[in-house]
Amino acid sequence: MATETTTNVIPYKCATCGAEVCKLWRLYNTFLSHQRLMCGPCALADQKQISAGGYVYDKSIYQHCDQIGGLVPAVPTPDGETFWGYSSVPPEGVAWWRNLPSYPTTTSKGAA
Ligand SMILES: [Zn+2]
Repeated sequence: MATETTTNVIPYKCATCGAEVCKLWRLYNTFLSHQRLMCGPCALADQKQISAGGYVYDKSIYQHCDQIGGLVPAVPTPDGETFWGYSSVPPEGVAWWRNLPSYPTTTSKGAA
């Protein structure tokens, strides 16, 4: 029997609108099977502004923060099978995430 290669690489895309090439947030402390990735606009119900570095102004603490409510930046591990814990993301992972566009670029490739 050929061994089936189980590549559980998680698609880095917004579960709500399908946006791909942008910063995504994930649910904090959530099992991978229940994980949901969300782009900034979908995560932000009230359309707060996201800075280039991915910071959002949290008026409850009067500070800019890279968490949106209960969502934290989604930084995949190198094998793409899971995500770094919020406080254990390596510097290169942080740099990768910060470098992503804060807002999804709208592509109309589906339109005929
Ligand atoms: Zn979205």
